[in-house]
Amino acid sequence: MSVMVQTIRGPIAIEDLGLTLSHEHLTAGSGTMDRVPSVYNEDDAYAVNIEALARAKAAGVRSMIDLTTMDLGRQVRLLQRVADADTGVNIVCATGVYRWVPAYFMGRDPDDIAEFMLGEITEGIEGTGIRAGIIKLAWDLEYRLDEGPWSPRSALERCARGAARAAKAAGVPISCHTVATDELGTPLLDIFEEEGLDLAAVTIGHSNDTTDLDYLGRIAGRGANLGFDRYGGVRDDAENERRAALAKSMFDAGFGEQVSLGHDGSPYMRFGGIRPTNLDCWTGVPTHEVPWLREHGLTDEQIAGMTERSIRRTFEAAAGMRRG
Ligand SMILES: [Zn+2]
Repeated sequence: MSVMVQTIRGPIAIEDLGLTLSHEHLTAGSGTMDRVPSVYNEDDAYAVNIEALARAKAAGVRSMIDLTTMDLGRQVRLLQRVADADTGVNIVCATGVYRWVPAYFMGRDPDDIAEFMLGEITEGIEGTGIRAGIIKLAWDLEYRLDEGPWSPRSALERCARGAARAAKAAGVPISCHTVATDELGTPLLDIFEEEGLDLAAVTIGHSNDTTDLDYLGRIAGRGANLGFDRYGGVRDDAENERRAALAKSMFDAGFGEQVSLGHDGSPYMRFGGIRPTNLDCWTGVPTHEVPWLREHGLTDEQIAGMTERSIRRTFEAAAGMRRG
């Protein structure tokens, strides 16, 4: 039987994912931003998302992973409205926690954290029928603060253990925001390994923020997937070219089935203030990065390893853990 992937419109067969963006956000900001009218307006958020999704679909995008957790400004009513609009783009939404672990979870047992995540995966988010299909974690500068059981590092580690337990129980993958130059993929995979997780179900995101092929090779060598997901986030074309070239380097190193592409983009960005609306935030991969890879010798079949099969592999590995 085919593996099913939970989207905001319900489960779909994994074969139907098609070209999938690995790391995006319908909205991004703070967990309480919807209570501040000058920051968040749902009708505006809806309008820009519908247009940006239409442009993504026209460019060839079939699916996207929305990695916005509750504390990063996920808006479940907006997710419901977008689901009802039937945009033609499958959207997988996330449970999990962002980098400043909410006080509610600090010092908690990982099993309590897993229970919260499982609730959003199996029952629904905030009392709705929308279910999360993936777990998001975010390890950033806070990981450097390590002073006892209430330190940011301890909180992040407890969340990672909780995520691993929820992922195994529910059969869903984990996708991680990391600081690649701090090599945070390494301690994350260490915890997941201790928890008995199949590392093929894990995406180590923002990995193309580094140029260190040795580190990237070590992460992929352990079986994990690499998120090369900030394409187009920088206006500078040279930077985008560097990111495309890095994807090709990993392909050349034999890891073409373990790299996923995305933008970390949102048409409604409230992270770091109100940012200009970019309705083409989800088109850079299909309209620039994929053609660049083609021009530099990769076949469409090989490119599909990065745009389709790599993400499928994480869902298949996750489903396998639940069966196994
Ligand atoms: Zn992101």
